[in-house]
Amino acid sequence: MRIVVTGGAGFIGSHLCERLIAKGNEVICVDNLFTGSENNIKQLLDNVHFQFIKHDIVQPLFIEEKIDQIYNLACPASTVQYQLNPVHTIKANTLGVINMLGLARKHGARILQTSTSEVYGDPAVHPQPEEYHGDVNPVGPRACYDEGKRVSETLCFDYHRMHGLEIKIVRIFNTYGPRMAFDDGRVVSNFIIQALKNEPITIYGDGSQTRSFAYVDDLVLGLIAMMNSKKEITGPINLGNPGEKTMLELAKQIIALTDSSSKIVHQDLPVDDPRRRCPDITKAKELLEWNPTVPLEEGLKKTITNFKTRLSL
Ligand code: NAD
Ligand code: UDP
Repeated sequence: MRIVVTGGAGFIGSHLCERLIAKGNEVICVDNLFTGSENNIKQLLDNVHFQFIKHDIVQPLFIEEKIDQIYNLACPASTVQYQLNPVHTIKANTLGVINMLGLARKHGARILQTSTSEVYGDPAVHPQPEEYHGDVNPVGPRACYDEGKRVSETLCFDYHRMHGLEIKIVRIFNTYGPRMAFDDGRVVSNFIIQALKNEPITIYGDGSQTRSFAYVDDLVLGLIAMMNSKKEITGPINLGNPGEKTMLELAKQIIALTDSSSKIVHQDLPVDDPRRRCPDITKAKELLEWNPTVPLEEGLKKTITNFKTRLSL
């Protein structure tokens, strides 16, 4: 199959491209390199089955070769990065998604849209099932991403209803692993870098807020399972690891795994920071026969090893 992966030079996208190439596909990676890097895909650049197009999906994309599938991951994902240019973040999730839906329609291709657990906002229902419609502040600093992703889901369903387009929507919960950018400000990358450098570990608020962390290899298998599921399965479907942790527990675990002398310091909690987050993955288990298998400790160890190498420690 010929498969387009937008955001393919990013953290999750680069792992997805590798996996799709390994399965014998032709992959066209489309990325504007805003948060991604050619370094993430350097191992693929010489592969004749891999093509890289530097392009911003906010602009229309024309591809003449027949495309079978599109994975749309193009959007900055970390709180720090998607707030750098909030208007562009909204454009990626509206104009950009319309462009990719149009491309899918032109080719009769199936499209998978990567939505997010952020559509649940600060959830009043716990753990979060797909039926929960969320509690999002539409005017806060996270809204460019949260509301943007909510509109992206709406657009997919409207193209599906109006044009019969085959759509797949996944709501990804916090994912971590090798190749996370150093400067993305996400909790796993921040804590690992701080711990490896024996610098203070910055916990925002009292650290009682929770997240549930999926290892990137598990997530990528979930994306591929969803893309290749029966036509009737449109989603939205949650993909994540239901193992829930407080940020204080995570900090202590990373300090222990890195044998670090870092001390914990507390800083202000960002505006609208969700208090807890945990996926209900009943649907993914039943419909996709997908289940995350990498325990947090094992995934963190692999991630720490990757960060040590990249930091030359
Ligand atoms: P990332 O920032 O590493 O990857 C995003 C990629 O998209 C980058 O390579 C970036 O350069 C590219 N990009 C951004 N805007 C673009 C545009 N307008 N045109 C073309 N390329 C563009 O983030 P990630 O963690 O790999 O996330 C990938 C996708 O998964 C995102 O859509 C994100 O919203 C979603 N997601 C990720 C997580 C997570 O925990 N990592 C959780 C929920 C959802
Ligand atoms: N966080 C933290 N210290 C950091 C970075 C993040 O305590 O150095 C907290 C953040 O406030 C949030 C959680 O960790 O409660 C997860 O943050 P991240 O940005 O990784 O993901 P998101 O909030 O988008 O789920």
